[in-house]
Amino acid sequence: MVDLNKLVRENVIKLTPYSSARDEFNGKTGVFMDANENPYGNLNRYPDPYQRELKTAISKVKAVEEEKIFLGNGSDEIIDLCFRIFCNPGVDKALIFTPTYGMYEVSASVNDIEVVKIPLNDSFQIDLKKAEPCFSDKNLKLIFICSPNNPTANSMNYQDIEYIITKFNGIVVIDEAYIDFSEKPSFIRLVNKYTNLIIMQTFSKAFGLAAVRVGMAFSNPAVVQYFNKLKPPYNISTINQKAALGKLNHIEQKKQQVFRIKKERERLSGILLKMHVIEKVYPSDSNFLLVKVKNASYIYNALVNRNIIIRNRSSMVDNCLRITIGKKSENDQLIRALKSISI
Ligand SMILES: *Cc1c(COP(=O)(O)O)cnc(C)c1O
Repeated sequence: MVDLNKLVRENVIKLTPYSSARDEFNGKTGVFMDANENPYGNLNRYPDPYQRELKTAISKVKAVEEEKIFLGNGSDEIIDLCFRIFCNPGVDKALIFTPTYGMYEVSASVNDIEVVKIPLNDSFQIDLKKAEPCFSDKNLKLIFICSPNNPTANSMNYQDIEYIITKFNGIVVIDEAYIDFSEKPSFIRLVNKYTNLIIMQTFSKAFGLAAVRVGMAFSNPAVVQYFNKLKPPYNISTINQKAALGKLNHIEQKKQQVFRIKKERERLSGILLKMHVIEKVYPSDSNFLLVKVKNASYIYNALVNRNIIIRNRSSMVDNCLRITIGKKSENDQLIRALKSISI
């Protein structure tokens, strides 16, 4: 068992959080004269700081108790809060497996936290032999594991992840932004078993609400309390809470879209594989494909000239492009454009 009180920064433990008007009284009806709001209008009231209605709905869909759920203004806010809860600026460190999502490193820099980078192996899997010696570093507080991983598209081995959770005496954050596109199991159940585990998911990908900025964290209630302590009081607007709730009330639509995207992923991958400009299509558990080509910048620019925007990930994986799965018509447009490019 990990001792949370030894991991959390001292100033965070001592901190007296801001107590909002809606913290002190949170009944739904009454004459509200406590928050200096304008009495007129329908967006005139401050949002529920703990997003109770939305959490109740998430709790049902994910089968996780409400007190184990935290919601952030996108996963980005959750990543930042992880650093601010557990890492002392200029002292502590976080570990990431590269290539991976860029926000971990950016957020670390913002918080003046050193990042230890362990490269994934040739199959884009975690190299435990390289990672494990770092676990004994007293200043290493956080390990981020992105699975399915962006930009490599694959999931990390389940056993490797669980090994890390059991061997590391700090916090393990598993970013499951793409879990709905994968056949592999989520780690969400394990928050009941391990106290040092934080699972992140998001409304930005499968739920189709990138504009709305709602990220989810699942962890033990003590960690959730620290998230609540540090977050800005009204971090998710009423409009955004309603938008997310609306999607949960129409969960069939999301399932259908995920099904369609996965079908298109297989179709597009099969077609790309046969094209002479494509050297390799990596297996994908996500809503994008990582493809290797001979000259990534040439193809990237040729596609931009044809008004098709993909992501050149060559700085992370040699001559690789990342293609988000679009609608069928969009994928067909991409295929036509690629066929028109001569190299
Ligand atoms: C897209 C993505 C997210 C989502 O971030 P939000 O801030 O919730 O939009 C999180 N993690 C990874 C790895 C992603 O690719």
